[in-house]
Amino acid sequence: MKLVNQQLIKDTNMKHLYSSIYLNPGISRANLAKQTKLSKTTVSTLVDELIEREFIFDSGCKNSDSIGRKPNCLHIRQNSYFVVVLHWEENMIYTHLIDIAGTVILRESYQLKENETYISASKVCLYQSMLKKSNPHRILGICVVVSAMIDAAHSEVYSTTLSLPSMGSENIIDALRYAFPEYPVAFLEDTACYAYAEKVYTNITEKNFAFINFSRGIGATLFIEGNMVGKASGAFTQFGHYSIDPNGPLCVCGNNGCLEALISESQLKKRIPEFGNIPSLTHQDFVTFQDLGKAATFRDPTALKILQQIAWELALALGNLICVVNPSLIILGGKIPALGDYFLDEVRKDLTKTGFRKMVDSVTVQYSTLQTDSFLNGAMKYFFDIHYCFTKENPAAFFIG
Ligand SMILES: [Zn+2]
Repeated sequence: MKLVNQQLIKDTNMKHLYSSIYLNPGISRANLAKQTKLSKTTVSTLVDELIEREFIFDSGCKNSDSIGRKPNCLHIRQNSYFVVVLHWEENMIYTHLIDIAGTVILRESYQLKENETYISASKVCLYQSMLKKSNPHRILGICVVVSAMIDAAHSEVYSTTLSLPSMGSENIIDALRYAFPEYPVAFLEDTACYAYAEKVYTNITEKNFAFINFSRGIGATLFIEGNMVGKASGAFTQFGHYSIDPNGPLCVCGNNGCLEALISESQLKKRIPEFGNIPSLTHQDFVTFQDLGKAATFRDPTALKILQQIAWELALALGNLICVVNPSLIILGGKIPALGDYFLDEVRKDLTKTGFRKMVDSVTVQYSTLQTDSFLNGAMKYFFDIHYCFTKENPAAFFIG
């Protein structure tokens, strides 16, 4: 038991040192000790180990005037250790090799063949391609990212945007657990990965915040008191299926008037005739948030009317979310920032007409400033920060969220 505790403390300290070096490239050992409040001896021993294992390096550029002193300028070593992120979309597997400093080194896509399962296709992507192009010993783990609710308690995966093909009698979670026996595996939900990227890469200081993802569907991840609620499994909230109109259109989930049935990108084309017509978009089979945002910048009157209405519908849901968890910050991410400032201003204005005044007045609503594929880096970073262990190799480890 004592050994386990020592390993845990060592792992926590190494993560702390690694993060500090990541945030302060070129930091000295002395400043690391000050910043992390660890003893100079501990810092020195652990830094030496991190250098030896090629996680970091010492460029020795400082203190060149003090002859005889140890060179002292620490940096993260890029392109040295990796996490493989497999993103499952409808009949597609997108494979990414990402180094733990956050650079995507390799990107590949693979279309599922008839009767092929996501698991067997993922094995093809890893074993027949990715591992042949990289050093298998430098891969710390594998993340599988889906737009779905991963329900560990019932061992089920539920998605309204991804049709997981029949696995016969095999359970998809069980199959994934044993699919890559050489590596630890984490099964993660995409919105949670977006939210984690937002938290770590934009330095969010608010302890209570909500990230709303508008991609194929609509999802939310909540941070309460600094912690992600329900880990990265997507099993604790179904914001996209929050109904704001019991008489609204039927949603794929079986309810009526869900946000996803009203304001997701896939519904835009269908909704335009309610408000008029947008000549520039008449001939398109699919209308994106970007198309609508562009029409709004040209002050197309129908586009502006649609934006007013969907801003109101989103504000109704946000007003209720605020009443339940009182976040101080709400970030709208995924594809919705393409709707532009007019839409965001409408949402902010509408929030003053709905929701519990005292709470609503102190919430900041803003767009994500990260790229639309930031969830990939979010997945890598989440795996490294939360699940990777410096002191224990455990290829059999399997994490849901
Ligand atoms: Zn629904």
